[in-house]
Amino acid sequence: WKNAPANLRIVAMAGKAHGDREFLVYEGERVTYDAWFRAVAVLAHELRAKGVRKGDRVALAMRNLPEWPVAFFAAVTIGAICVPLNAWWTGEELAYGLQDSGTRLLICDAERWERIAPFRSQCPALETVFVSRADTMPAGTNALETVIGETRDYGSLEQDTLPEVEIDPDDDATIFYTSGTTGRPKGALGTHRNLCTNILSSAYNAAFAVLRRGESLPEPTPRTSLTVIPLFHVTACSAGLMGSIVAGNTLIFMHKWDPVEAFGIIEREKVNLTGGVPTIAWQLIEHPERAKYDLSSIEAVAYGGAPAAPELVRRIYEEFGALPGNGWGMTETMATVTGHSGEDYLNRPESCGPPVAVADLKITGEDGVTELPPGEIGELWARGPMVVKGYWGKPEASAETFVDGWVRTGDLAWLDEEGWCYIADRAKDMIIRGGENIYSSEVENVLYDHPAVTDAALIGLPHKQLGEEPAAVVHLGPGMSASEDELREWVAARLARFKVPVRIVFTSETLPRNANGKILKRDLASLF
Ligand code: ATP
Ligand code: MG
Repeated sequence: WKNAPANLRIVAMAGKAHGDREFLVYEGERVTYDAWFRAVAVLAHELRAKGVRKGDRVALAMRNLPEWPVAFFAAVTIGAICVPLNAWWTGEELAYGLQDSGTRLLICDAERWERIAPFRSQCPALETVFVSRADTMPAGTNALETVIGETRDYGSLEQDTLPEVEIDPDDDATIFYTSGTTGRPKGALGTHRNLCTNILSSAYNAAFAVLRRGESLPEPTPRTSLTVIPLFHVTACSAGLMGSIVAGNTLIFMHKWDPVEAFGIIEREKVNLTGGVPTIAWQLIEHPERAKYDLSSIEAVAYGGAPAAPELVRRIYEEFGALPGNGWGMTETMATVTGHSGEDYLNRPESCGPPVAVADLKITGEDGVTELPPGEIGELWARGPMVVKGYWGKPEASAETFVDGWVRTGDLAWLDEEGWCYIADRAKDMIIRGGENIYSSEVENVLYDHPAVTDAALIGLPHKQLGEEPAAVVHLGPGMSASEDELREWVAARLARFKVPVRIVFTSETLPRNANGKILKRDLASLF
């Protein structure tokens, strides 16, 4: 293969080399690396037989099932562009993804097909549909199991070589949709190189952090990792799945996120790594059932994708006895651009880490050009081999966001003297009160510090003279109480007066979040 290193075919071959080691556990189903690879090879040949060629879009719409990484690798190792669709989407939203990407072949689970079927006529490019886990096969679809069998049968499949297809590292590999936190999700078109970068940079970063502390590198030992976030987001796919395959880790998938079920799995399977997004880490820490389980196998709880309160960092370390980790990235960068863990993170709990070795960061002022010195907040830009080519079918949005090899992140951030990055807010969420900037995460972190508060969001309310005023939505922990005045005083004792929320609304539920753990601030204004 030309320029072999940054190619998902290599990742697949690395996985195959782990042979009988356990790759995946899902409820009662267990799949070895060799068995997984056989299923990938069989499905890859079947996709070729169905006419899928280089550059064709193959969409994936399913929860975290064992067939997800089978379908993903079958598509990308024959040079097709895999389009993982958000399994939380409605039928209409899924049809938008199929239509927008011009998908030719869809692989989905029965639940997703039920939603999509009524909209099939709106997806003219869609020729072939494979459905997994259907009791009765829906009309006009093929059973995925007739090609690769049930998971327990993968090991007996005979095919164990991939179809011969030449792939260049800069060939397109994926279209991942952004989370849609600030608008309609956009498809980020990523290459093989983009997706492989995470494997290289995270290994290098981990080694560098150890050496910086003057310690010697540990022997690499495969770990068991509990995947609790959806694979259709880049974090779980590129930062989780890719590196795990190369390392030979065992991955455990859950049917649905549930903290108590997670405790049971951690105890039973002796899970070493978990995390994903901060809200999941909070739920693990705060759940009253936690004490009933032996969770001592957990070594690290790492997350990214959304702001994490410094309070969380300390509690993971002290109450869980695990090393906390944080990484910043976006769909447009195929996950990690900055990251740190353990001691580094405990020393700088407000930071999302330094850039990975192959990334550059810069902060610009209001003109989007002038670079700001360390300590000053401005817009964060990132550059490196993880930055995708652009948005699928959106030349204008692409031209605005991807400039001279840099991606304009839409995040407000600052860098310290040593280059560690601190996210202040999304530019769209920053509240300007009579000319004074209020970064929502600063106020949210102070609220999180209050013993009674377990969830908090700051939003801007329109105000005639001031433009906007800060207001907070807060959820209290079980059996906890705090009044609006008490919380306002708590903030006033710690931050400048203009940052104190003018109103605080309490909700009985935790705050609404999307599949990537991000608070849907757009939905909160109606509470005031
Ligand atoms: P859309 O672009 O469609 O509005 P989105 O930006 O939420 O959605 P993603 O690409 O999933 O879609 O998320 C990237 C964003 O997540 C970043 O721009 C940043 O605001 C936030 N983020 C990611 N990691 C971190 C982190 N470690 N700390 C704080 N915020 C983070
Ligand atoms: Mg975004």
